[in-house]
Amino acid sequence: MFIGIDDTDSERGLCTTYLAAVLMERLAPLGEVVGLPRLVRLNPCARYKTRGNAALAFELESDRPDEVKEMALKTVLELSDFSGSNTNPGLVIADGVTAKMTAFYRRAVTEILEIGEARELLDEEGVWHRGFKKGRGLIGALAAIGADLPDYTYELIAYRERQRWGTPRDIDAASVWKADALTYPCTWDTVDCHNRRIVFAPHTGDPVLFGIRGSDPDAIEVAFRTIKSEPWERRVLYKTNQGTDAHILDGAIGDVVDCQSYRLHGLVADRPAAIEGGHLFFTLQDVDKKSLLKCAAFEPTKNFRTIVSRLIPGDEVEVWGAVREGKLNLEKIKILNLALQEILEAPACSNCGRRMESAGKGQGYRCRCCKTKSADRERRIVTRDLEKGFYEVPPCARRHLSKPLVRFTGENMHPSR
Ligand code: ATP
Repeated sequence: MFIGIDDTDSERGLCTTYLAAVLMERLAPLGEVVGLPRLVRLNPCARYKTRGNAALAFELESDRPDEVKEMALKTVLELSDFSGSNTNPGLVIADGVTAKMTAFYRRAVTEILEIGEARELLDEEGVWHRGFKKGRGLIGALAAIGADLPDYTYELIAYRERQRWGTPRDIDAASVWKADALTYPCTWDTVDCHNRRIVFAPHTGDPVLFGIRGSDPDAIEVAFRTIKSEPWERRVLYKTNQGTDAHILDGAIGDVVDCQSYRLHGLVADRPAAIEGGHLFFTLQDVDKKSLLKCAAFEPTKNFRTIVSRLIPGDEVEVWGAVREGKLNLEKIKILNLALQEILEAPACSNCGRRMESAGKGQGYRCRCCKTKSADRERRIVTRDLEKGFYEVPPCARRHLSKPLVRFTGENMHPSR
């Protein structure tokens, strides 16, 4: 049996991953969980998401399907925040995963879907499901079951004891830095070194104590054992599409659609300009100069903006990010070729070699010592303060699905840590 759940929490509390963790425990007398449960992130631009657009699925081997369904329903009813205006739980229990379900997942991670599309497929495939209130969670629940995860990472989530929910988390900061030092690059996004922040724990009222992300369960375990914190109620290791770029489509600048995420190739068309609040924008154009797209490095992307601010017209780049309201929100940038940067300056004296001075408005230049004259300024090529290569936003600004540079191989990587 493949059990998928989504849209059970609200900004006020609870968490679908916690519900799944409790449900797995409750189902233990009825069957055995096969492999790891899956924490599946869907389109980051989905409008009704609470936080990170997560959905959950796991496989259970059981010969007592009716009791499993009853327990799953009971748990969803008990551990969903039905008072949340945007909480519309969905529970899907399928006997198998079909190609159409996998195709549905691929669309759910890259496009915006309607509840009707989920219901249609569930009916067509004869899959047992229950949607509550608007039933929007059926989209995520079905997609999580269909998720094939050709690339994947892991996250170990520790959950808080119930009586501590809503109180500040008690986590020993020094132990977190140590855990990162011991296990990076097999774990990532535990801390943000540049911005001096611990980024692996939420500050909200939900049951999550912290989550350790990584490529290697053994390294994650080492990190977990290093961290000193308040006692945890339970912990679960998930297999996940986080950090895989599953949301990214290869596209052309002229064809992008709002609420989808892309990798695009092009040339920088103007100098990056900052607006109030520290948000930085530049225009990207395709190589045949037919289409333009604004790219944004918003203030929360912090030190990444320094790299973006050094771009000049003519730089050849590849950009990664989600398009919203006609702008691409940068997640990563690969600088392929740097344009020549020229400056115009007062010419050098042909006699003594010293820089000439202005002889007055519209009167060219003159050497103070030799009295030689020149009408025009000189062009000089200056060394760029930017290296070719791959750059990314820092951990504090990373999207769950964004593949961190620490997972790429190749030259000129500049992982943000
Ligand atoms: P959390 O991360 O805290 O669990 P969340 O950010 O996952 O919360 P949900 O409460 O799950 O947010 O709400 C997201 C809603 O959007 C769900 O109902 C889900 O089914 C729906 N959804 C997910 N992907 C898409 C999509 N591609 N198109 C339309 N709706 C989607």
